[in-house]
Amino acid sequence: MKIPIHKLVSVVRGKKPTRFPYCNCLLFEDRTRAIIETATEIPVLQEIESEKVDLVLNSHAHLDHMHGNWAFPNARIGLHTESAPLARSKEVYGDSFILDLWKKLMPLPLNILIPFDRPQDALEIRDSRIVQYPESRVDFTLEDGEELDLGKVKLRVIHAPGHCRGHCCFFWEAEGILFSSDIDFTGGGPWYGNGTADLGDFLKSIDMLVDLSPRITVPAHGRVIEGNLAEPARRFAEHIHRREETILEKLDRPRTLDELEDLKMFHEVRLHLIFHFWEKVMILKHLDRMVQMGVVVQEGDLYYKA
Ligand SMILES: [Zn+2]
Repeated sequence: MKIPIHKLVSVVRGKKPTRFPYCNCLLFEDRTRAIIETATEIPVLQEIESEKVDLVLNSHAHLDHMHGNWAFPNARIGLHTESAPLARSKEVYGDSFILDLWKKLMPLPLNILIPFDRPQDALEIRDSRIVQYPESRVDFTLEDGEELDLGKVKLRVIHAPGHCRGHCCFFWEAEGILFSSDIDFTGGGPWYGNGTADLGDFLKSIDMLVDLSPRITVPAHGRVIEGNLAEPARRFAEHIHRREETILEKLDRPRTLDELEDLKMFHEVRLHLIFHFWEKVMILKHLDRMVQMGVVVQEGDLYYKA
């Protein structure tokens, strides 16, 4: 369905919740018909006449943002320079997103199949090797600060790393409309369970979005936010600080990452080994940051309070 937020701009989403593997997309019906993100349901892609869209922008190369790119055969597809290689190649995606770290952190090989509406869009990993992932062509790359001229709409690219390295937001300054992507201000808090995530960058990016003073913020997941972003941003960032405190409390004596994983800070129910992995990666991101800040000491496999 199309939910207008401006006479030229609509949020596009399906019937299912906009959490993984789906997201909110943002459609601009200007001289150039453009859409940010494509991970929605097939009937919705038909409803917006995806073949008549001229421009596709993906905030980053995660599956739950771009698995519908195939439905835009006549659009030029743009991603940030640091995301383009992941979109183009399943091997690059697999390594930087999961597999390099998996091999380091997990005792067993990864086997997972995440099916989608079309079989060829599935994500399949067997024995820690990526078998299937919906690669996308990339026709041009985006740079921080670049302005995309759609007609009346001028969209600024805002490189906002933290969730992952090539993560971007998009801002139409004149109307105060922001697409904040995975800085999504949802109650579950920030997600950084991948190889290129960085907590310091994540916090900086959240502040940067508040400084833009958007009138309407459309995240990739969850609800549209109207008005001041300061309070939702504070609550969102608070998750990071609280998680850090929880870890620090546990480090009153030296502990390994495996011991800390038992805190279950992120995933209470773990139906698949991958939840243990994400838990470990996110804790590791905190440990890296706290070691850097000098509040935690690392000796081999052990971490303790400085
Ligand atoms: Zn993502």
